[in-house]
Amino acid sequence: MATERDVHFMRLAIGQAEIGKSTPGGSEVGAVLVCNDKVACEGFNEGELHHDATAHAEIVVIRRAGNLLQRTDLSGHTLYCTLQPCGMCTMACLWAGISRIVFGAGRGDVHHIYFESRHNNTVDFIRDAFRDDLEIEGGVLKTECAALYAKPDDPVPTSDPAHSDTRSA
Ligand SMILES: [Zn+2]
Repeated sequence: MATERDVHFMRLAIGQAEIGKSTPGGSEVGAVLVCNDKVACEGFNEGELHHDATAHAEIVVIRRAGNLLQRTDLSGHTLYCTLQPCGMCTMACLWAGISRIVFGAGRGDVHHIYFESRHNNTVDFIRDAFRDDLEIEGGVLKTECAALYAKPDDPVPTSDPAHSDTRSA
């Protein structure tokens, strides 16, 4: 169940997404890592900034927290993200031992370009296949988060190579 605290931290993630959107090389996905009700670190998608396809917001904050804590184990942490994490990021959360993922907009709320798989919901796949103690909750501030992204029926944005349409005809 989403709590008032979840809404609070999701607002911080939205703030990060907005910073990402206005940062050259950044983009509009924001993430916040929280432990014991305190922000451990925040970040946004830095893919184009570093020419790094893995620099999704979730990976950015996992790396940042690891550096701060000088360890890879982030058990006890909750990851807040404005957009449903992709398969790579969900898997990274598993490797980091993150206990809970809370996201805003889900697959059905935004354009399909934001997701690598056109047929499987990778979050469900990973949750079901690998662990039963990773709690995943979606839809927190869904409307506000979805407003950051192209809508399901919008034309495909062509300016960003990460957003190219890979759906087969
Ligand atoms: Zn990702």
